[in-house]
Amino acid sequence: MSTTFDPRGHSPATDEMRGRVVLVTGAGDGIGRAVSLALAGAGAEVILLGRTVRKLEALHAEIGKLGAPEASIVPLDLERALAADYEAAADAIAKRYGRLDGLLHNAALLGALTPLEQYDVPLFMRVMHVNVTAEFVLTRQLLPLLRASRDAAVLFTSSGVGNVGRAYWGAYSISKFAVEGMAQVLSQELENTSNVRVNVIDPGKVRTSMRRQAYPSEAPESLPTPSSLTNAWLALLGPASVGITGRRFQAQPVAQR
Ligand code: NDP
Repeated sequence: MSTTFDPRGHSPATDEMRGRVVLVTGAGDGIGRAVSLALAGAGAEVILLGRTVRKLEALHAEIGKLGAPEASIVPLDLERALAADYEAAADAIAKRYGRLDGLLHNAALLGALTPLEQYDVPLFMRVMHVNVTAEFVLTRQLLPLLRASRDAAVLFTSSGVGNVGRAYWGAYSISKFAVEGMAQVLSQELENTSNVRVNVIDPGKVRTSMRRQAYPSEAPESLPTPSSLTNAWLALLGPASVGITGRRFQAQPVAQR
């Protein structure tokens, strides 16, 4: 497959995602919400995973109004979920769909922007748990369903501080380095033994509540909305990226970081 593949230039065909079952974590807000809507709009059956059920229900209804394939909701708090909760989620997906064609690891916690010397230890552990451990456990649990797909895409979400460290970004930066490492390990393990591809997306600056939390004095209008950027996610979760694995992509020009 071409090494010139660039998801930023992708323009999805109508119904490009038809017939694909895609799970999005942190689907209720921000980038996850916009990508879920775009996936559904392009014909995917979307599994909305998140912790705030009211937000997931509102999104489910909005997808229904699009006339898109019906979405399903998996309420799961990635900070508190136990092994049995992951198993129950995987069983429910297996029962309803029998396979998974896409898995977007999008949910994350920002934590604190503070020197490591002063970083609160329990907060460090929470951020690492949600941003890294939960992604590992969910992936492990869903791999049999991903393997059952003709071609499945796992997409991890990193950040501009996920491969270059930055002072005061603490657990968040460290967790995104771990996410990128997990993607590299997993992509190599699956490359010759499955039809599962594994890539990383760095969204760049996007107008969401996480960005607002990190940069409270920034003018939101100066940033692109999540819905203006979703084509890159469709490329990496859909048929456009078959054969592409082990790579890291930007959703925006490099200056937007
Ligand atoms: P938001 O904070 O807007 O949304 C994050 C989503 O994750 C929310 O739906 C939130 O749920 C969910 N979530 C958080 N914790 C949990 C949990 N314990 N269990 C289940 N769901 C949870 O963030 P963004 O949309 O901005 O970020 C999405 C991804 O993009 C993240 O991985 C982030 O690191 C990355 N990113 C974002 C950038 C940006 O500029 N926005 C830049 C670079 C990377 P709830 O709605 O209940 O709060």
